[in-house]
Amino acid sequence: MKPNFIYMDHAATTPADPRVVEAMRPFFTDRFANPATLYTQGRENDDAVEASRESIARNLNCASSEIYFTSGGTESDNWAIKGAVWAGEKRGRHIVTSAVEHHAVLDTCEYLAAHGGELTVVPVSSQGMVDPADVAKAIRDDTVLVSIMHANNEVGAIEPIEEISAITREKGVLFHTDAVQTVGKIPVDVEALGVDILSASGHKFYGPKGVGFLYIRKGTRVETLNHGGGQERSRRSGTLNVPGIVGMAAALDLAGESIDSADRLSAMARRLWDGLTAKAGDLNLNTDLSNCLPGFLNFVVAGVEGEAMLLRLDNADICVSSGSACTTGSLEPSHVLLALGLPPEVAHGSLRFTMGRENTDADIDAILEVLPGIITTLREMSPTYRKT
Ligand code: PLP
Repeated sequence: MKPNFIYMDHAATTPADPRVVEAMRPFFTDRFANPATLYTQGRENDDAVEASRESIARNLNCASSEIYFTSGGTESDNWAIKGAVWAGEKRGRHIVTSAVEHHAVLDTCEYLAAHGGELTVVPVSSQGMVDPADVAKAIRDDTVLVSIMHANNEVGAIEPIEEISAITREKGVLFHTDAVQTVGKIPVDVEALGVDILSASGHKFYGPKGVGFLYIRKGTRVETLNHGGGQERSRRSGTLNVPGIVGMAAALDLAGESIDSADRLSAMARRLWDGLTAKAGDLNLNTDLSNCLPGFLNFVVAGVEGEAMLLRLDNADICVSSGSACTTGSLEPSHVLLALGLPPEVAHGSLRFTMGRENTDADIDAILEVLPGIITTLREMSPTYRKT
């Protein structure tokens, strides 16, 4: 299962577990029938879909009727937010979210705000944490939805969801959490979290890409986003991705293996950080290692562009991310790092390592062999870098 390169970008995606691929395989070929059809092959596939729904529900501690299949995290977030706001229009159109949400949440909220809604974006601490008191203050009589992520995809901060849900419940406001980075990585129990709506995506926990789900608590009013053939009890139309659904459920059943390796991953992240700070000074941590997803390490390297380090690491067959997204030729610093209070020029020097269950200490050793030298070389080339 281990590739011939060092992969440390598990927050971007994970490899599908071979056991997941095996579970999916028959549904591409022999078992291709549409589960909405009435003949035996279709009904059997419908049974496979329902068994998957039940096993996902068991993992999340909810009823299977509260799970709806989608095409992934982005669709789940769009549906949750648009659907909840549209359904709550009588109460108002005010949404509360945080400054560190994924664009699937932030852009959806901004879209609604630009179309007759209103948005309050609560700030975060320098470690990416939302303060529940800020959420409480932001809620108004016309607030229809609070959407705060379970854990952040750039710095790994785990948000105080239980405390926030206590507030939204008291105030009678719906609460959505984007759990795309947590489902399958840390225990996720919708009852313990107290959320009304929760988004997840298969490819973040060793399942397939292009499939996800939305948990909608029984009795929660969420308008339909996808109209059409009436699948998913008429709440989300579209022919079901049977191989994807079966694979996602199999992946979640295997997720105990990731959850069990949490301590090992956290120790590796700590070792990488200690090793790098010893070998290359002037590094600043963006991840709070005492409250983050296992195996997350985000830091800035003074005097060096994240992209430059990333490309040199790529030459050494090491895959990581930087906090800048090189889109359409312009380098935008990460909105998450800016929200943590980093100046744009500092945010440009960030690197994100996100480890997974196939990573080993040998991978950390290999990075510690290569990265300090890359940093030194790039700093020597920098016209502005002066060691402090
Ligand atoms: N939300 C978060 C926190 C994510 O990290 C991602 C993907 O990176 C998404 C949503 C979007 O999920 P998907 O890639 O399944 O559309």
